[in-house]
Amino acid sequence: MTDAYFPTPDLVLTGARLATFDVAHARPSGQADADALVIAEGRIAWMGYSGALPTAAMVAPRIDCAGQWITPALIDCHTHLVYAGSRAREFELRLHGASYEQIAREGGGIRATVAATRAATVDELVQQALPRLQALVDEGVMVVEIKSGYGLDTATELNMLLAARRLAQMLPVTVRTTFLGAHALPPDYAGHADDYIDLVCTQMLPAIAGQGLADAVDAFCENIGFTPAQTERVFIAARELGLPVKLHAEQLSNQGGAALVAKYGGLSADHLEHLDEAGAQAMAASGTVAVLLPGAYYFLRETHTPPIELLRRLKVPMAISTDINPGTSPFSSLLLMLNMACTLFRMTPEEALTGTTRNAARALGMGATHGTLAVGKAADLLAWNVGDLAELCYSYGTHRPVLRLRGGKRVDRL
Ligand SMILES: [Zn+2]
Repeated sequence: MTDAYFPTPDLVLTGARLATFDVAHARPSGQADADALVIAEGRIAWMGYSGALPTAAMVAPRIDCAGQWITPALIDCHTHLVYAGSRAREFELRLHGASYEQIAREGGGIRATVAATRAATVDELVQQALPRLQALVDEGVMVVEIKSGYGLDTATELNMLLAARRLAQMLPVTVRTTFLGAHALPPDYAGHADDYIDLVCTQMLPAIAGQGLADAVDAFCENIGFTPAQTERVFIAARELGLPVKLHAEQLSNQGGAALVAKYGGLSADHLEHLDEAGAQAMAASGTVAVLLPGAYYFLRETHTPPIELLRRLKVPMAISTDINPGTSPFSSLLLMLNMACTLFRMTPEEALTGTTRNAARALGMGATHGTLAVGKAADLLAWNVGDLAELCYSYGTHRPVLRLRGGKRVDRL
């Protein structure tokens, strides 16, 4: 290598095992033929052997990783973690035999979350969401996507996105916001779904885009959500505003949502338990990421798994996420999802870890800067004191990163 130009190094890691998750490295988890990494100007500036460090790095502060694994920081690419209230009581009632319909009649279910979220101030939304986000950050998550979708009116959808942006100023994490106005039909629009979609497209979306509060637009395309035609209207409105789209697709039935979001060059199609070959082929052709959500599958006690083998065969990139939400996935742990992806979906540990790093970055349109260890990428990385990376997927409850660097700066040592 040459030292002709080298930015002033801020930090050097040596004695590490580097799991880059970069396709340039063919070995499992992209393990690099290297044990050292140089950070400069917030980015990875060099990777190689510690015996061949660039001259400029010789005097920089150094951390000996003593054989620990270094991975890219974790990315949670699908959450609904901003909401108010709790559904624990409803959970309990159901276990005492109450039906979903009974609970819905009494104002429970998503209606309860919408009512509580509408009643909350932005500050209250922030305070209630903070422990959920803190839990992710503690595990090593440095990028998280947060959706709106429990306001279902313009003011509350704006408040949810404002809360999400404010959370990013409180914890060492990058937040990507997604407008999910087409999440559910609000009670006041019962029987008038097309009118509600009018509101989403002509009022909510322009207001949110006008304030720059959304990085992407999502919808729930399902028998109990919105039709493909209604979903497409949302996508067209998003495209006119220059916002990328993604979709809750084929979770409970096959609606052709994956092919629809692929047609609009979507970032991701999420859930996908009922995805068919045509949908998967459309995703492969458009480069749309399959975001798999084992927490919701588990909590709903589903039995129809997403077609992992089909996604593998067609080389559709697979991401894994928490889907944190009060109704179907109240789990603020991406590490738990790694285990569930392996046990419930039979993904390999390498696939699961790729799904929370490289492919999760891609699902957020951040693949160029995040998700792998490579020269030029953000120095968002973690050190793990495990013998084998599969430990992170195999057991749950004991693993925390022993070192966290965000933009090359040490967040803390736990
Ligand atoms: Zn979701």
